[in-house]
Amino acid sequence: MNNIFVYCELKDDGHIADVSLELCSKARHLADRINIDVEAVVIGNKLKGIENELFTHGVNNVFCLEDSRLAFYQTLPHFSVMTKLIEREKPYSVLFGATPVGRDLAPRVASYLRCGLTADCTALDIDENGNLMQIRPAFGGNIIATILCPDVRPQMATVREGVMKQEIFERQAHATVTNLTAADFLEPADFIVNIIERKLEEKRIDIKGAPIIVSGGYGMGSKENFKLLHELAGLLGGEVGATRAAVDAGFAEPERQVGQTGVTVRPKVYIACGISGAVQHRSGMEQSSLIISINTDPHAPLNSIADYVITGDAVDVVTKMIKYCKSNNKK
Ligand SMILES: Cc1cc2nc3c(=O)[nH]c(=O)nc-3n(C[C@H](O)[C@H](O)[C@H](O)COP(=O)(O)OP(=O)(O)OC[C@H]3O[C@@H](n4cnc5c(N)ncnc54)[C@H](O)[C@@H]3O)c2cc1C
Repeated sequence: MNNIFVYCELKDDGHIADVSLELCSKARHLADRINIDVEAVVIGNKLKGIENELFTHGVNNVFCLEDSRLAFYQTLPHFSVMTKLIEREKPYSVLFGATPVGRDLAPRVASYLRCGLTADCTALDIDENGNLMQIRPAFGGNIIATILCPDVRPQMATVREGVMKQEIFERQAHATVTNLTAADFLEPADFIVNIIERKLEEKRIDIKGAPIIVSGGYGMGSKENFKLLHELAGLLGGEVGATRAAVDAGFAEPERQVGQTGVTVRPKVYIACGISGAVQHRSGMEQSSLIISINTDPHAPLNSIADYVITGDAVDVVTKMIKYCKSNNKK
Protein backbone atom coordinates (compact mmCIF):
# COMPACT_ATOMS: atom_id res chain seq x y z
CA MET A 1 0.00 0.00 0.00
CA ASN A 2 1.14 3.55 -0.80
CA ASN A 3 4.29 2.45 -2.56
CA ILE A 4 5.84 3.67 -5.80
CA PHE A 5 4.65 1.76 -8.86
CA VAL A 6 6.77 1.55 -11.98
CA TYR A 7 4.93 0.42 -15.11
CA CYS A 8 7.51 -1.75 -16.89
CA GLU A 9 7.73 -2.02 -20.64
CA LEU A 10 9.03 -5.13 -22.35
CA LYS A 11 11.37 -5.12 -25.31
CA ASP A 12 10.79 -7.40 -28.28
CA ASP A 13 13.37 -9.84 -26.89
CA GLY A 14 11.25 -10.19 -23.74
CA HIS A 15 13.58 -8.26 -21.43
CA ILE A 16 12.64 -5.16 -19.44
CA ALA A 17 13.14 -1.91 -21.37
CA ASP A 18 16.01 0.35 -20.29
CA VAL A 19 13.69 3.24 -19.48
CA SER A 20 11.80 1.05 -16.98
CA LEU A 21 15.04 -0.05 -15.28
CA GLU A 22 16.07 3.61 -15.08
CA LEU A 23 12.75 4.43 -13.42
CA CYS A 24 13.05 1.55 -10.95
CA SER A 25 16.52 2.82 -9.95
CA LYS A 26 15.22 6.34 -9.40
CA ALA A 27 12.14 5.03 -7.58
CA ARG A 28 14.43 3.10 -5.18
CA HIS A 29 16.15 6.35 -4.12
CA LEU A 30 12.82 8.15 -3.71
CA ALA A 31 11.25 5.26 -1.79
CA ASP A 32 14.17 5.10 0.64
CA ARG A 33 13.65 8.78 1.47
CA ILE A 34 10.12 8.16 2.78
CA ASN A 35 10.45 4.54 3.77
CA ILE A 36 8.16 2.93 1.24
CA ASP A 37 8.61 0.13 -1.29
CA VAL A 38 9.12 0.05 -5.05
CA GLU A 39 6.69 -2.19 -6.92
CA ALA A 40 7.04 -2.98 -10.62
CA VAL A 41 4.09 -3.93 -12.81
CA VAL A 42 4.85 -6.27 -15.72
CA ILE A 43 2.08 -7.25 -18.12
CA GLY A 44 2.88 -9.67 -20.95
CA ASN A 45 3.45 -13.23 -22.04
CA LYS A 46 6.30 -15.60 -21.07
CA LEU A 47 7.39 -13.66 -18.00
CA LYS A 48 9.22 -16.51 -16.28
CA GLY A 49 12.21 -15.12 -14.35
CA ILE A 50 11.53 -11.51 -15.31
CA GLU A 51 11.55 -10.52 -11.63
CA ASN A 52 15.32 -11.13 -11.46
CA GLU A 53 15.96 -8.23 -13.85
CA LEU A 54 13.94 -6.00 -11.53
CA PHE A 55 15.26 -7.16 -8.16
CA THR A 56 18.74 -6.02 -9.21
CA HIS A 57 17.33 -2.55 -9.85
CA GLY A 58 15.90 -1.96 -6.39
CA VAL A 59 12.40 -3.41 -6.75
CA ASN A 60 10.71 -4.96 -3.67
CA ASN A 61 7.72 -6.54 -5.35
CA VAL A 62 6.84 -7.43 -8.93
CA PHE A 63 3.19 -7.62 -9.95
CA CYS A 64 3.16 -10.06 -12.88
CA LEU A 65 0.21 -10.61 -15.14
CA GLU A 66 1.02 -13.29 -17.70
CA ASP A 67 -1.37 -14.21 -20.48
CA SER A 68 -0.78 -15.43 -24.04
CA ARG A 69 -3.10 -12.71 -25.37
CA LEU A 70 -0.71 -10.08 -23.96
CA ALA A 71 2.32 -10.96 -26.11
CA PHE A 72 2.37 -7.41 -27.53
CA TYR A 73 1.34 -4.10 -26.00
CA GLN A 74 -2.29 -3.15 -26.52
CA THR A 75 -3.93 -0.12 -24.96
CA LEU A 76 -7.16 -1.63 -23.61
CA PRO A 77 -5.88 -4.60 -21.62
CA HIS A 78 -2.95 -2.65 -20.16
CA PHE A 79 -5.33 0.18 -19.24
CA SER A 80 -7.69 -2.26 -17.49
CA VAL A 81 -4.92 -3.94 -15.52
CA MET A 82 -3.28 -0.66 -14.46
CA THR A 83 -6.47 1.09 -13.39
CA LYS A 84 -7.80 -1.91 -11.44
CA LEU A 85 -4.47 -2.54 -9.76
CA ILE A 86 -4.03 1.13 -8.83
CA GLU A 87 -7.57 1.26 -7.41
CA ARG A 88 -6.83 -1.85 -5.37
CA GLU A 89 -3.31 -1.01 -4.15
CA LYS A 90 -3.58 2.80 -3.92
CA PRO A 91 0.07 3.59 -4.66
CA TYR A 92 1.74 6.84 -3.61
CA SER A 93 2.99 7.41 -7.14
CA VAL A 94 3.01 5.72 -10.55
CA LEU A 95 5.86 6.23 -13.03
CA PHE A 96 5.86 5.49 -16.76
CA GLY A 97 8.49 5.94 -19.46
CA ALA A 98 7.78 8.86 -21.80
CA THR A 99 7.85 6.41 -24.70
CA PRO A 100 5.13 5.82 -27.30
CA VAL A 101 3.64 3.20 -24.95
CA GLY A 102 3.87 5.39 -21.83
CA ARG A 103 2.48 8.37 -23.69
CA ASP A 104 -0.46 6.27 -24.85
CA LEU A 105 -1.19 4.61 -21.53
CA ALA A 106 -0.39 7.12 -18.75
CA PRO A 107 -2.84 9.90 -19.82
CA ARG A 108 -5.70 7.38 -20.14
CA VAL A 109 -5.00 5.95 -16.70
CA ALA A 110 -4.64 9.42 -15.15
CA SER A 111 -7.81 10.66 -16.80
CA TYR A 112 -9.81 7.60 -15.65
CA LEU A 113 -8.52 7.92 -12.08
CA ARG A 114 -9.00 11.71 -12.13
CA CYS A 115 -5.48 12.41 -10.92
CA GLY A 116 -2.78 14.63 -12.41
CA LEU A 117 -0.02 13.59 -14.77
CA THR A 118 3.20 15.43 -15.48
CA ALA A 119 4.60 14.43 -18.86
CA ASP A 120 8.27 14.31 -19.82
CA CYS A 121 9.84 14.94 -16.40
CA THR A 122 13.58 15.44 -16.36
CA ALA A 123 13.97 15.08 -12.58
CA LEU A 124 11.97 13.73 -9.64
CA ASP A 125 12.37 14.54 -5.96
CA ILE A 126 10.35 14.62 -2.75
CA ASP A 127 9.52 17.82 -0.86
CA GLU A 128 9.39 18.33 2.90
CA ASN A 129 5.69 17.38 2.95
CA GLY A 130 6.31 14.09 1.19
CA ASN A 131 4.92 15.22 -2.16
CA LEU A 132 6.54 14.02 -5.37
CA MET A 133 8.30 16.97 -7.03
CA GLN A 134 7.79 16.48 -10.77
CA ILE A 135 10.38 18.63 -12.49
CA ARG A 136 10.45 19.50 -16.19
CA PRO A 137 11.27 22.36 -18.56
CA ALA A 138 8.29 24.59 -19.35
CA PHE A 139 7.49 27.60 -21.55
CA GLY A 140 9.74 26.47 -24.39
CA GLY A 141 12.49 25.47 -21.99
CA ASN A 142 12.83 28.97 -20.55
CA ILE A 143 11.97 27.89 -17.02
CA ILE A 144 12.28 24.67 -15.06
CA ALA A 145 8.90 24.01 -13.45
CA THR A 146 8.35 21.93 -10.31
CA ILE A 147 4.86 20.46 -10.39
CA LEU A 148 3.19 19.14 -7.25
CA CYS A 149 0.01 17.18 -6.89
CA PRO A 150 -0.70 17.52 -3.14
CA ASP A 151 -4.41 16.64 -2.99
CA VAL A 152 -4.83 13.58 -5.18
CA ARG A 153 -3.15 10.19 -5.22
CA PRO A 154 -1.45 8.60 -7.02
CA GLN A 155 1.00 11.24 -8.26
CA MET A 156 1.72 10.24 -11.83
CA ALA A 157 4.59 11.16 -14.12
CA THR A 158 6.24 10.08 -17.33
CA VAL A 159 10.02 10.37 -17.63
CA ARG A 160 12.05 10.38 -20.80
CA GLU A 161 14.44 7.60 -21.66
CA GLY A 162 18.05 8.20 -20.64
CA VAL A 163 17.26 10.98 -18.16
CA MET A 164 17.56 8.81 -15.03
CA LYS A 165 20.58 6.67 -14.33
CA GLN A 166 20.24 2.88 -14.39
CA GLU A 167 21.75 1.50 -11.19
CA ILE A 168 22.36 -1.93 -9.73
CA PHE A 169 21.31 -2.44 -6.10
CA GLU A 170 21.69 -5.26 -3.60
CA ARG A 171 18.58 -7.41 -3.62
CA GLN A 172 16.10 -5.97 -1.10
CA ALA A 173 15.51 -7.92 2.13
CA HIS A 174 11.95 -8.59 1.04
CA ALA A 175 11.75 -9.20 -2.70
CA THR A 176 8.54 -10.85 -3.80
CA VAL A 177 6.48 -11.68 -6.87
CA THR A 178 2.72 -11.18 -6.82
CA ASN A 179 1.09 -13.08 -9.67
CA LEU A 180 -2.12 -11.50 -10.89
CA THR A 181 -4.89 -13.59 -12.39
CA ALA A 182 -6.06 -12.45 -15.81
CA ALA A 183 -9.71 -13.17 -15.01
CA ASP A 184 -9.61 -10.63 -12.13
CA PHE A 185 -8.38 -7.82 -14.34
CA LEU A 186 -9.39 -8.49 -17.94
CA GLU A 187 -12.63 -8.90 -19.82
CA PRO A 188 -13.34 -10.07 -23.40
CA ALA A 189 -14.04 -6.44 -24.34
CA ASP A 190 -10.38 -5.62 -23.62
CA PHE A 191 -9.43 -7.74 -26.62
CA ILE A 192 -11.64 -6.27 -29.31
CA VAL A 193 -8.54 -5.15 -31.23
CA ASN A 194 -6.76 -7.92 -33.13
CA ILE A 195 -3.13 -7.52 -34.11
CA ILE A 196 -3.04 -8.91 -37.64
CA GLU A 197 0.54 -8.09 -38.55
CA ARG A 198 3.53 -6.33 -36.98
CA LYS A 199 6.17 -4.66 -39.13
CA LEU A 200 9.38 -3.80 -37.33
CA GLU A 201 11.76 -1.29 -38.78
CA GLU A 202 15.28 -1.37 -37.42
CA LYS A 203 16.38 1.86 -35.81
CA ARG A 204 18.96 3.34 -38.17
CA ILE A 205 20.69 5.74 -35.84
CA ASP A 206 20.84 5.28 -32.10
CA ILE A 207 23.23 7.59 -30.28
CA LYS A 208 21.76 6.99 -26.82
CA GLY A 209 24.11 4.22 -25.74
CA ALA A 210 27.30 5.55 -27.38
CA PRO A 211 30.22 5.89 -24.93
CA ILE A 212 31.68 8.82 -26.87
CA ILE A 213 29.65 11.45 -28.71
CA VAL A 214 31.22 13.95 -31.07
CA SER A 215 28.49 16.55 -31.39
CA GLY A 216 28.26 19.40 -33.86
CA GLY A 217 26.43 22.68 -33.77
CA TYR A 218 25.66 25.45 -36.21
CA GLY A 219 29.25 26.64 -35.75
CA MET A 220 30.45 23.65 -37.83
CA GLY A 221 29.26 25.68 -40.79
CA SER A 222 28.17 22.97 -43.27
CA LYS A 223 27.11 19.39 -43.87
CA GLU A 224 30.49 18.89 -45.52
CA ASN A 225 32.30 19.88 -42.32
CA PHE A 226 30.10 17.45 -40.38
CA LYS A 227 31.88 14.64 -42.25
CA LEU A 228 34.91 15.45 -40.09
CA LEU A 229 32.82 14.74 -36.99
CA HIS A 230 31.83 11.36 -38.46
CA GLU A 231 35.48 10.59 -39.16
CA LEU A 232 36.56 11.51 -35.62
CA ALA A 233 33.66 9.60 -34.05
CA GLY A 234 34.59 6.55 -36.14
CA LEU A 235 38.21 6.69 -34.96
CA LEU A 236 37.14 7.05 -31.32
CA GLY A 237 34.46 4.35 -31.49
CA GLY A 238 31.69 6.86 -30.88
CA GLU A 239 28.65 8.41 -32.53
CA VAL A 240 27.80 11.83 -33.94
CA GLY A 241 25.31 14.09 -32.19
CA ALA A 242 23.96 17.47 -33.23
CA THR A 243 22.11 20.54 -32.02
CA ARG A 244 18.70 21.48 -33.28
CA ALA A 245 20.23 24.39 -35.20
CA ALA A 246 22.54 21.95 -36.99
CA VAL A 247 19.65 19.57 -37.73
CA ASP A 248 17.47 22.44 -38.98
CA ALA A 249 20.30 23.56 -41.26
CA GLY A 250 20.44 20.04 -42.74
CA PHE A 251 23.92 19.25 -41.38
CA ALA A 252 22.71 16.10 -39.57
CA GLU A 253 19.75 13.72 -39.35
CA PRO A 254 17.00 14.51 -36.79
CA GLU A 255 17.76 11.23 -34.94
CA ARG A 256 21.09 12.76 -33.91
CA GLN A 257 19.56 15.76 -32.17
CA VAL A 258 20.55 16.00 -28.52
CA GLY A 259 18.44 17.99 -26.10
CA GLN A 260 15.01 18.78 -24.82
CA THR A 261 13.25 17.85 -28.04
CA GLY A 262 15.85 15.29 -29.06
CA VAL A 263 17.66 12.49 -27.27
CA THR A 264 19.02 12.60 -23.72
CA VAL A 265 22.53 11.18 -23.56
CA ARG A 266 25.07 10.58 -20.80
CA PRO A 267 28.24 9.33 -22.55
CA LYS A 268 31.66 9.03 -20.96
CA VAL A 269 32.93 11.80 -23.28
CA TYR A 270 30.91 14.50 -25.07
CA ILE A 271 32.92 16.60 -27.54
CA ALA A 272 30.87 19.70 -28.43
CA CYS A 273 32.06 21.35 -31.64
CA GLY A 274 30.69 24.81 -32.44
CA ILE A 275 27.84 24.53 -29.94
CA SER A 276 26.76 27.61 -27.99
CA GLY A 277 25.15 25.70 -25.12
CA ALA A 278 21.49 26.75 -25.08
CA VAL A 279 19.55 25.39 -22.13
CA GLN A 280 17.49 23.16 -24.45
CA HIS A 281 20.68 21.49 -25.67
CA ARG A 282 22.33 21.27 -22.27
CA SER A 283 19.36 19.49 -20.73
CA GLY A 284 20.11 16.56 -23.03
CA MET A 285 23.85 16.23 -22.41
CA GLU A 286 24.90 17.86 -19.14
CA GLN A 287 25.02 14.47 -17.36
CA SER A 288 27.94 13.40 -19.60
CA SER A 289 30.94 12.29 -17.53
CA LEU A 290 33.42 14.53 -19.37
CA ILE A 291 32.58 17.48 -21.62
CA ILE A 292 35.00 19.09 -24.07
CA SER A 293 33.85 22.33 -25.73
CA ILE A 294 35.46 23.59 -28.92
CA ASN A 295 34.30 27.11 -29.76
CA THR A 296 35.69 30.31 -31.22
CA ASP A 297 33.90 32.23 -28.47
CA PRO A 298 35.69 31.82 -25.13
CA HIS A 299 32.50 32.94 -23.37
CA ALA A 300 30.13 30.43 -25.01
CA PRO A 301 27.64 29.30 -22.30
CA LEU A 302 28.55 25.64 -22.85
CA ASN A 303 32.09 26.39 -21.65
CA SER A 304 30.73 26.98 -18.14
CA ILE A 305 29.81 23.28 -17.79
CA ALA A 306 32.73 21.90 -19.81
CA ASP A 307 35.65 20.07 -18.20
CA TYR A 308 37.96 21.22 -21.00
CA VAL A 309 37.59 24.23 -23.29
CA ILE A 310 39.45 24.58 -26.57
CA THR A 311 39.13 28.10 -27.96
CA GLY A 312 39.47 27.95 -31.73
CA ASP A 313 37.93 27.04 -35.04
CA ALA A 314 36.18 23.66 -34.67
CA VAL A 315 37.09 22.54 -38.19
CA ASP A 316 40.79 23.18 -37.49
CA VAL A 317 40.72 21.52 -34.08
CA VAL A 318 38.79 18.45 -35.24
CA THR A 319 41.11 18.05 -38.25
CA LYS A 320 44.08 18.05 -35.86
CA MET A 321 42.35 15.55 -33.56
CA ILE A 322 41.75 13.21 -36.52
CA LYS A 323 45.39 13.50 -37.55
CA TYR A 324 46.52 12.80 -34.00
CA CYS A 325 44.21 9.79 -33.64
CA LYS A 326 45.44 8.34 -36.93
CA SER A 327 49.10 8.81 -36.06
CA ASN A 328 48.55 7.13 -32.69
CA ASN A 329 46.45 4.29 -34.02
CA LYS A 330 48.41 1.12 -33.24
CA LYS A 331 46.90 -0.85 -36.15
C1 LIG B 1 11.09 24.55 -27.47
C2 LIG B 1 12.52 24.46 -27.93
C3 LIG B 1 13.13 23.23 -27.93
C4 LIG B 1 14.45 23.11 -28.35
N1 LIG B 1 15.06 21.88 -28.33
C5 LIG B 1 16.36 21.79 -28.66
C6 LIG B 1 17.04 20.53 -28.59
O1 LIG B 1 16.46 19.48 -28.29
N2 LIG B 1 18.35 20.51 -28.90
C7 LIG B 1 19.05 21.62 -29.27
O2 LIG B 1 20.25 21.52 -29.53
N3 LIG B 1 18.43 22.81 -29.34
C8 LIG B 1 17.10 22.92 -29.08
N4 LIG B 1 16.49 24.12 -29.20
C9 LIG B 1 17.25 25.24 -29.84
C10 LIG B 1 18.19 25.95 -28.88
O3 LIG B 1 17.48 26.96 -28.20
C11 LIG B 1 19.35 26.60 -29.65
O4 LIG B 1 18.84 27.45 -30.64
C12 LIG B 1 20.29 25.59 -30.30
O5 LIG B 1 20.68 24.60 -29.38
C13 LIG B 1 21.52 26.32 -30.79
O6 LIG B 1 22.32 25.45 -31.52
P1 LIG B 1 23.84 25.76 -31.80
O7 LIG B 1 24.57 25.83 -30.50
O8 LIG B 1 24.30 24.75 -32.79
O9 LIG B 1 23.82 27.15 -32.57
P2 LIG B 1 24.18 28.60 -32.11
O10 LIG B 1 23.45 28.98 -30.88
O11 LIG B 1 24.03 29.44 -33.31
O12 LIG B 1 25.71 28.51 -31.71
C14 LIG B 1 26.75 28.29 -32.61
C15 LIG B 1 28.05 28.32 -31.80
O13 LIG B 1 29.12 28.02 -32.66
C16 LIG B 1 30.21 28.87 -32.37
N5 LIG B 1 31.01 28.97 -33.60
C17 LIG B 1 30.76 29.67 -34.73
N6 LIG B 1 31.71 29.41 -35.63
C18 LIG B 1 32.56 28.53 -35.08
C19 LIG B 1 33.73 27.86 -35.53
N7 LIG B 1 34.22 28.05 -36.78
N8 LIG B 1 34.36 27.02 -34.67
C20 LIG B 1 33.90 26.83 -33.41
N9 LIG B 1 32.81 27.43 -32.95
C21 LIG B 1 32.13 28.25 -33.77
C22 LIG B 1 29.57 30.18 -31.95
O14 LIG B 1 30.47 30.93 -31.13
C23 LIG B 1 28.37 29.67 -31.16
O15 LIG B 1 28.68 29.49 -29.79
C24 LIG B 1 15.17 24.27 -28.79
C25 LIG B 1 14.54 25.50 -28.76
C26 LIG B 1 13.23 25.61 -28.35
C27 LIG B 1 12.58 26.94 -28.32
